[in-house]
Amino acid sequence: MKKFVFMLLLLLFVVVLPGHGHAAAGTNKIFLDDKELTAGQDVPVENVNSSVMVPLRMIAENLGYKVDWDQKSKTITIEQQGKTIKLFVDQTTASVDDKTVTLTAAPLLRTNTTLVPIRFIGEQFGLTVKWDNTAKVVNLITPIMPDPNADPGGNSGGGTNGTVPPADTTANLTMVNGVSFSENKLIIAMDGSSQPKVSKVTGPERIVIDLPNANFSDLFKTGQELDSSLNGKLTITDYPDVSGVRYSLYSTAPYTVRFVIDLTQAQNYSVDVTEDVSKLVVIDLNAASTDTTVTPPPVNNGRKLVVLDAGHGAKDSGAVGVTGKYEKNFNLAIVLKAAALLKKESNIDVVLTRSDDTFLELKDRAGMANNLKADLFISVHANSGSPAATGTETYYQRDASKALANVMHKYLVQATGLSDRGVRYGNFHVIRETTMPAVLLEVGYLSNKGDEALLFSDALQNKVAAGIVSGIKEYLGL
Ligand SMILES: [Zn+2]
Repeated sequence: MKKFVFMLLLLLFVVVLPGHGHAAAGTNKIFLDDKELTAGQDVPVENVNSSVMVPLRMIAENLGYKVDWDQKSKTITIEQQGKTIKLFVDQTTASVDDKTVTLTAAPLLRTNTTLVPIRFIGEQFGLTVKWDNTAKVVNLITPIMPDPNADPGGNSGGGTNGTVPPADTTANLTMVNGVSFSENKLIIAMDGSSQPKVSKVTGPERIVIDLPNANFSDLFKTGQELDSSLNGKLTITDYPDVSGVRYSLYSTAPYTVRFVIDLTQAQNYSVDVTEDVSKLVVIDLNAASTDTTVTPPPVNNGRKLVVLDAGHGAKDSGAVGVTGKYEKNFNLAIVLKAAALLKKESNIDVVLTRSDDTFLELKDRAGMANNLKADLFISVHANSGSPAATGTETYYQRDASKALANVMHKYLVQATGLSDRGVRYGNFHVIRETTMPAVLLEVGYLSNKGDEALLFSDALQNKVAAGIVSGIKEYLGL
């Protein structure tokens, strides 16, 4: 509901530029860092009182300022970087952090929108605002350095503090070759030495990744959506904390490629940069939670029902390994082997969400376990990351799953013999929406040659299956 109101409010806003020109409505153009911002057709840019009026909606959407609207008092509140501006419809008096200022033009109500002054607002928040009176163009220029007040974000970090090289030529540009989002991680592939600058920004919540001295390669354009203004986006489903990923050539002086992970709520992250044939920047949203509450395991009171979930299936291959092997097949092999072992246990019943190469929605996997009132839910996956990333992780989402995660991880690490990447918080659908202790195992990294070979070996799969059974038995006290 709140989100709906917020979006509605965005529609109400428009901006006024004091100063120049008397162009007819709709002839002015607004550029943000050399990219044209488009308003809806029903929300024309206007000149009022020698001020260019543009929809704030496009400013809010592109700059992410937090806006609020009070219908009763016709008050517009805009917040960013700890600064609050209040504007009032039809009043040239405004306030900036409780200091009163005078505007050249007052905000105005239109049928579906409110008009507010862009030069005033932009300059208040550190933008450079330029007006080309001949071309009737407003240029908004954002500061190149990330907001110094922004939370550097994440825990563990790493690789985020590189300096920005001077980059006003196209020589030695880092070329960005691709981007993907999977397993709650944004992975950017590139050639070059650009040092990513990552920051957490609020209002709305998002993570901004700037690659200085970088541009999109032709390869990027063949593999990803990129429009003529060098903007594009990834559609994200299955990750409720992430509403989308946007990217653009943010600046050409110096060249900067920007990625933005739009979040539905604040989210920790870690940054990993690996040097290899191709360089990968990994923004991992599976950062550990600080919550330490532990729920004790249940006491044994009879036969227990365990649901084993082989991740992905059919059209959804999951991660694709370095030699082209599919994660879905690994997951299924492990689950089938573990189920065969569990069937020998007199106190344990086992149900599989899938026992062949079929596709299931995440909600159906969680729903199955909930409907069965299962005692445990264990989802099996293999990971993907940089070529160098290797090791074993176990994820929980709810406090009730932590104890299970600790036990399962102990046996899983023992079974794989890979490096121990720890028990982690991960907001995965199947372990969030289930109602019993539930974990998601990332057995190893298919993007790593060594891990991939190991994970597809029969010996390792038998060990992992036996480890899963040992973990289940210990947790259930059997
Ligand atoms: Zn997976």
